[in-house]
Amino acid sequence: MNNNIIRYAILSMDIEDWQHLDYFDTSKCDLSYSMMDGLDQYLELISELGVPSSFFCVGELAQKIKIKLREISNFGFDIGSHTQTHRRPLTISVQEFEEELRVSKDNIEQICSKPIEGFRAPCFSLDRERLMILPKLGYNYDASRILFDSHPLYGTLDMNGFEQVSNNIFRSNNFFEFQTSTQKIFGKDLPISGGGYLRIFPWIVTKTLLNRYCPNNELYTLYIHPFELSTKKSPPFPNGTNLKTKIRFSLGRKTVAEKLVKLIKLLQFNGFQFTTFSQLRQQLLNK
Ligand SMILES: [Zn+2]
Repeated sequence: MNNNIIRYAILSMDIEDWQHLDYFDTSKCDLSYSMMDGLDQYLELISELGVPSSFFCVGELAQKIKIKLREISNFGFDIGSHTQTHRRPLTISVQEFEEELRVSKDNIEQICSKPIEGFRAPCFSLDRERLMILPKLGYNYDASRILFDSHPLYGTLDMNGFEQVSNNIFRSNNFFEFQTSTQKIFGKDLPISGGGYLRIFPWIVTKTLLNRYCPNNELYTLYIHPFELSTKKSPPFPNGTNLKTKIRFSLGRKTVAEKLVKLIKLLQFNGFQFTTFSQLRQQLLNK
């Protein structure tokens, strides 16, 4: 382990409600039931621990939570786009995707009165063609790359021609790609970056994987969603939701806040400094 290297950790929340999840048909969901209180739980948790966070917001939700978004933005945390409607980019045309990027950026910029710099694709569903639209529209970074080809919904992002800044950061001119953390075990890449894996894995598993990851990486990124930290009961699942989906949605939700605190402390113990995507990008540009 090289002790001279500064290691960074970035926490991020994809701001969306439970109805946006890919495994629910939004048109059949009860839109009056919201689990957005998870955003407040998250803000409270990170403020108690004194760590920053990045956010990616679904554009169609932005107006409903505009006061909160403004507070987050004024606090100096960056808010990027998580598309306008949360449709998976690889399931829509390139033109439709471009429109999603444009509209969500405009909506969030109007609310926060700041340029939107970042993007994360729903379900990490992105390819090279769609990625290259981002800099054209004024986005400065993307956080949609993950090495996890065994997940049926995730895309694979080709970084050919990008300069590799470190094992999780790629750069092309002033545009950056920040890769989501995974750890190889038994020859397979396992996500150790939050989401369902933080909920479902017992803490001892996450801790073991993180302890392997920390000495060999300069960047750790985590993503989480409001429904995972919501203190409300599981939503009224739409008719036809199968048992597997219900379990997958609900499993481990009560353990997330506690695991998140442990994870932050473990990273701090391993010398990681907490930052945001836009701050890290700025730092890399100034190097
Ligand atoms: Zn999402």
